Amino acid sequence: MGQTGGCMCGAVRYELKSEAFDCGWCHCRTCQLNSGAPAMVFASVPQGHLVWTSGAELVKSVPSSNFGHREFCGKCGTPFLMKVDHQPETVDFSVITLDDPEAVEPGYHIFWRSKIGWFEPKDDLPRHEKFRPDTRGLDGTEPPA
Ligand SMILES: [Zn+2]
Ligand SMILES: [Zn+2]
Repeated sequence: MGQTGGCMCGAVRYELKSEAFDCGWCHCRTCQLNSGAPAMVFASVPQGHLVWTSGAELVKSVPSSNFGHREFCGKCGTPFLMKVDHQPETVDFSVITLDDPEAVEPGYHIFWRSKIGWFEPKDDLPRHEKFRPDTRGLDGTEPPA
């Protein structure tokens, strides 16, 4: 059995079919508004490897940029994941929703330029002003202001 997770109200549950990879912090404005927190931590799994095990019918989707959307629990609002059109082979999910969030550790920060001033992570991870240089398909794009 893979890692499991779910939302605040417990109605929506999921299981990962493979190990999460490429975990990092995102300080973009969209993540701040979506989470109600200074930043979010995402990790990736291949498309289809995050499987809803209960409450799938409650999962809602909202456009979060001109190239992606986010999915969340329609009952309690917990943000689950982010999908971008030009990376259809992977899905990025919110590590905090794992039952064991400490099992997946961030390796970098992106959108450091919109980091909240009073929020100061005490780590030595790479800090990118926007996307990482090797991010595919995102040249000239950024989340809505
Ligand atoms: Zn919920
Ligand atoms: Zn973000």
